Amino acid sequence: MHDDSKPSRTVPLLDLRAQFASIEAEIWPVIQDVVTSQKFILGEEVTAFEKQVADYCRCKYAIGCASGSDALLLALMAYDIGPGDRVLTTPYTFFATTAAITRLGAIPVFVDIEPDHFNMDPDQAVTIIETARIKAVIPVHLFGACVDLDPILTAARERGIPVIEDAAQSIGSEYKGRRAGSIGEIGCFSFFPSKNLGAFGDAGLCTTNDASIADRLRSLRVHGSRVKYYHEVVGINSRLDVLQAAVLRVKLRHLDKWSAARQRNADIYRELLSSSVMLPRAASYQTRHIYNQFVIQCQHRTGLRDYLQQNGVGTEIYYPLPLHLQPCFAYLGYKTGDFPVSEKLAKTSLALPIYPELEPADIEYVAHHIDVFFGAPS
Ligand SMILES: *Cc1c(COP(=O)(O)O)cnc(C)c1O
Repeated sequence: MHDDSKPSRTVPLLDLRAQFASIEAEIWPVIQDVVTSQKFILGEEVTAFEKQVADYCRCKYAIGCASGSDALLLALMAYDIGPGDRVLTTPYTFFATTAAITRLGAIPVFVDIEPDHFNMDPDQAVTIIETARIKAVIPVHLFGACVDLDPILTAARERGIPVIEDAAQSIGSEYKGRRAGSIGEIGCFSFFPSKNLGAFGDAGLCTTNDASIADRLRSLRVHGSRVKYYHEVVGINSRLDVLQAAVLRVKLRHLDKWSAARQRNADIYRELLSSSVMLPRAASYQTRHIYNQFVIQCQHRTGLRDYLQQNGVGTEIYYPLPLHLQPCFAYLGYKTGDFPVSEKLAKTSLALPIYPELEPADIEYVAHHIDVFFGAPS
């Protein structure tokens, strides 16, 4: 008998087991090598990975650390950001961007995002850089697309303000032909499992073209010491595990293929989805989009999400509450209405499955159910 309650297909938001199945034979030997060596902290494997990522991002230096959150923290520490310093970012990002600022006693100053791109509005950012005493800027390349960086960089550099790119979701993404993380003073990356290049746990990394900043980051991640047991500054303990570096070196070889598959999936959605939802738009400066997420904007989000769920399709809301309205940041004094674009998109955005191993039929299934929900003729 046909069971009406059981969907004919399941399409999770992300299926890491499918990816693992495709590289399993390459992974076990490198894990075995690390375990056999019993060398778990820094050393050759980490250095080799750092060099490969620096090349991949077209940067001179890369410094591995324990997470993307720590990469942001280390970057701000490298520029001596501290109590009372004001750091410009947007309220429409993952929590860690702003938490890194407040953890150092610094003050987040928010600007709104662009409605089409979910990214920092460059005009508003420039106005604040020109008028407020800002000590650093953190543009976030959200969902795999780059911020329109040039106006922000020009305004910041005129005033000697470092631009720290939060490229956690955008490894390999390109702005006017330049790779995310290579454009500002420091690029911060995350290898959280759901990112395009995901570790088997937490891991992160900073990129830079500045030799002295690279040196400072390397010291800060080992308690602020260059020579063991001698400390010039107080750093933190935040290293990239050798096991993670070994896994990430294997995965880096596949990254371009995976990001291309995500692009292909995005193209299929674009072909299939009717005008009932707003698709992510790519700006002309975006010369390569890596689609860490495929985020649509829609009416009736809760209803659509429930309907897709009932039909076996996983979705997620990035992000349901902008950071200026989070209870922990109430002391900053922002209120509802301060960042209308962020507040609107927090109510309308929905991430659809986009991971590389999806079959075209999976995407057709998702698109079909979206059309059915909105009553579009099919
Ligand atoms: C994932 C992410 C981070 C934090 O990275 P973790 O590795 O999870 O600490 C920071 N910023 C953005 C935009 C992210 O997506």
